[in-house]
Amino acid sequence: MPERLPFVDLRMQYRNHADELQRAIDGVLESAAFILGPEVTAFEEEFARFIGARHCIGVGSGTAALRVALLALGIGPGDEVLMPANTYIACALATSQVGAVPKFVDVGDDYLMRVDEIESALTPKTKAIMPVHLYGQAADVEAIVSIARRHGLAVIEDASQAHGARILSRCVGSFADVGCFSFYPGKNLGAYGDGGAIVTNDPEVAERIRLYHDFGQSKKYEHLLKGDNCRLDSIQAAVLRVKLVHLERWNAQRLAAARRYDGLIKALGVAPPVRHADEGHVYHLYVIEVPDRDSLIERYREANIEVGIHYPVPIHLQRAYGDLQLPQGSFPRTEDAARRIISLPMFPEITPAQIERVAEVLKVHLERTGVRA
Ligand SMILES: *Cc1c(COP(=O)(O)O)cnc(C)c1O
Repeated sequence: MPERLPFVDLRMQYRNHADELQRAIDGVLESAAFILGPEVTAFEEEFARFIGARHCIGVGSGTAALRVALLALGIGPGDEVLMPANTYIACALATSQVGAVPKFVDVGDDYLMRVDEIESALTPKTKAIMPVHLYGQAADVEAIVSIARRHGLAVIEDASQAHGARILSRCVGSFADVGCFSFYPGKNLGAYGDGGAIVTNDPEVAERIRLYHDFGQSKKYEHLLKGDNCRLDSIQAAVLRVKLVHLERWNAQRLAAARRYDGLIKALGVAPPVRHADEGHVYHLYVIEVPDRDSLIERYREANIEVGIHYPVPIHLQRAYGDLQLPQGSFPRTEDAARRIISLPMFPEITPAQIERVAEVLKVHLERTGVRA
């Protein structure tokens, strides 16, 4: 069996930074401040500064970030939230959790929500737009915010896959009413467990979120609203503080890896993923479309190379969303992509030799399927 090439090598990242990570975790254990406390506050300040937003509130997950953001913006029962048809299901779940209904917009060749199809998807019930910076690429959030302003809608950026992606040197997450992040371990900035954050420039929205995420309390046993318990825990905050320092370099390494993939893949006659601008893409995922995708996945399995599909079944075709009654064919570009996309191994530490190994399997696949020019 050839050596295993993981999809994301979190053990390698840990080994490279074990000393500082262990010191950070030990510090929390020594302090016994596990909930909120100085590590969480320090991380929130550092992450807000990094993104370029005034406020940051750590929460328990990316899904919680989306849900609490929707609540803080007053989205609730009867409201509709527009989102790309091709995204992680958490966008729709968070919307359903607040009693609102997800409404999908098909994606373009960059796999991002089609801005030119937003206005035709609006109804009198639409209250918010949730653009997703998918795979690490910045969506055209400025255009989306300007459409939203014309129609009096809120905008919630889902930047869960795009920590540090920029539009003209400004980080995504800072453009809309709120920006949401996930720190799921495999994300560009990942904790050692679940975690998430919400950033905003609006002090009132920030205050509502801060109350809500800690039982609605302003101080112990003084509950101003019916909140929840969805805080970022201190050990995760301490880990994230260590990792945040390295994020820019890791993102640059991802871009370098993507460029290497681009060259090899182009030489095989396959289109590399669309990239609008270097700084606007932090390559959380490297996604291409290939003929006979499922047999390529089989070849990767034989080669002991881990690959993924993001995402194999669009949300509107999931059983959980059967109630929306959106048949096959509702979002053709998303459905077509779901049959053809494959995500190749991508992580900052991936080596040129590993990338060549991935491309070699693709080359053999294309030769065998006879598609190669
Ligand atoms: C990961 C992810 C989420 C959910 O984040 P969790 O921390 O796993 O809850 C939401 N949206 C997108 C686009 C994601 O990639």
